[in-house]
Amino acid sequence: MSRVAARVSGIENSATFAVFDAVRDLRARGVRVLDLGGGEPDFDTPGHVVAEATAALAAGDTHYTPSRGIPELLTAISEKLGKDNGITADPARDIIVTPSAKHALFLSLMTLLDPGDEIIVPTPSWVSYSSMARLAGAVPVPAELSAADGFRISREVLDAHVTERTRVLLVNTPNNPTGRALTAREAADIAAFATEHDLFVVADEIYEHIRYDGTPHLSLAALAGCAGRTLTVNGFSKGHAMTGWRLGYLAGPSDVIAQALKVQQHTVGCAGSFVQRGAVAALTGPQTDVARMRDAYAARRDLITEGLNALPGIRCTAPDGAFYAFADIRGTGFAGSAAFTDWLLREAGVALTPGTAFGPGGEGHVRLSFATSPAVIGEALDRMGAALARRG
Ligand code: PMP
Ligand code: GLU
Repeated sequence: MSRVAARVSGIENSATFAVFDAVRDLRARGVRVLDLGGGEPDFDTPGHVVAEATAALAAGDTHYTPSRGIPELLTAISEKLGKDNGITADPARDIIVTPSAKHALFLSLMTLLDPGDEIIVPTPSWVSYSSMARLAGAVPVPAELSAADGFRISREVLDAHVTERTRVLLVNTPNNPTGRALTAREAADIAAFATEHDLFVVADEIYEHIRYDGTPHLSLAALAGCAGRTLTVNGFSKGHAMTGWRLGYLAGPSDVIAQALKVQQHTVGCAGSFVQRGAVAALTGPQTDVARMRDAYAARRDLITEGLNALPGIRCTAPDGAFYAFADIRGTGFAGSAAFTDWLLREAGVALTPGTAFGPGGEGHVRLSFATSPAVIGEALDRMGAALARRG
C-alpha cells in the first residue's frame, strides 16, 4: 500500500523549482552557471518597503493578524484595485491577503472546485495551476494554444474544451511563460464564454506591472458580467521585487471570499504581520522603483530577443509583458526542448526551463528569464551561440 495519498503522489515536483535547485547544486560544487531559469527579480525590494517592515518588526509587530489581513493593507489593496484595475472591492468583505499569490491560487481552486470538476487551463501555462487543481481533486483540462497563432486565446479553442463538468477557466495575463498580454478582443471572448457557460474565471495578474511598449493591462473582473464570477489573484513578488516575503491577495465576490477565508483560516491562518506592514508601504509609497525595474526589464527584453533571433535555428517574438522570452528552438534540430536545456546546461553552463514544463504547446520552445543583469544575458547569449556553433 502506498505511504502517501494518491492526490499527492499523482503530481510532479515543480519544474521551476527543479531548475532553481539544479543551479544551486551546481554552484555549490563550484560550477559557474548563468541562470536564466526560475523567474524571480534580481532586484532587491525597494528600501522604503524594507524600512517599513523592519520598523514594524522592531516595534513588536510580531503577532497573528486577522485572517483576512490587516485593515490598512486591505484598504490599500481596495484602492489599488479601484484605481489601476477598475475593480470595486470592499476591503471588509471582498479581499483576503494571502502568504503568496500561490496561496491565493490554492485558496481559489480549493474553494471553487469539487472532485471531478474540470478547470480549463490555456497552455502553455505556469507550472503550478494543473497540480493545484489536482490537489483539489479536480481535472485540469489543457486548452492548447498555437505558437503559429501567437498563443492567442480564441472562442474556438475555449469552446472545444468545455463540457458539462467545466466549472472554472484560468487566465494569466501577462502570461508566464509566453509573455503574451490579453487583447481587448480576447478578454471580451473570455467574458462572453464564461457568462454563456456560467463559469468562474480565476485571473492571475501577478505580472501586471511588468508590461512593455504601452501594452494595456486588462483585468477580467472589470469586464461587463464578470465581477460576480471572477477571482482576481495578484501579489507583490514580481512588480515590487518581493519574492522572499511571500505575499499576495485574492479579490472577488463576497460570498466566495467568505468561503475561501475558511481555507485560509484552517491552513496558514494569516500572512506575516510585519510583512503586511511592508506591503502597505509598497502600495501607498512612491512607485518610482516599480517603474525603474520595469524600464530595466524592457531594455533586457530588447537585448534578449535580438540576441536570440541572431542565433541559428532560434526564433523569438518580443513579449508584451512578464520577464520571459519564450523562444522557438525547433530549427536547431534537437529532439525536444528538454534535450536542448539539458545539453545547454552541460555544454555552456546556461540554465533555461524547457517548454515541456508548461504543458501542451510548450514543446519546441524554451523559456529564458531575463530578470537578470544585461551582463549575464549577454554572456549567456554568447555561450549559446558558441555552443551551437561547436555542434555545427
Ligand atoms: N502566478 C504566476 C504566473 C507566477 O509566475 C508566479 C511566480 N512564482 C506566481 C503566480 C506565484 O507568485 P508568488 O507565490 O511568489 O506570489
Ligand atoms: N514564477 C516563477 C517561475 O515561473 C518562480 C517559480 C515558481 O513559483 O514556480 O519560474
